[in-house]
Amino acid sequence: MEKVEIDKNLCIGCGACAAICPKNFEIGDDGLAEVTNDKVTDEVKEAAENCPTDAIKIKKADKKEEL
Ligand code: SF4
Repeated sequence: MEKVEIDKNLCIGCGACAAICPKNFEIGDDGLAEVTNDKVTDEVKEAAENCPTDAIKIKKADKKEEL
């Protein structure tokens, strides 16, 4: 299982991820991207590839980390 996260320190709020994959990303009140659904789909991978700052991180979901 994989999950997607946004590194807000890298995000510049360009909106590309929300445009490519609105099911998983939206621009929050702070003007930066937020994950609304961390399930990794092909669209999520496409958004990650198109993020200009590589702020979209796809990680292995480790059960120990979720506890
Ligand atoms: S594509 Fe990257 S930089 Fe642009 S809003 Fe999404 S996470 Fe932020």
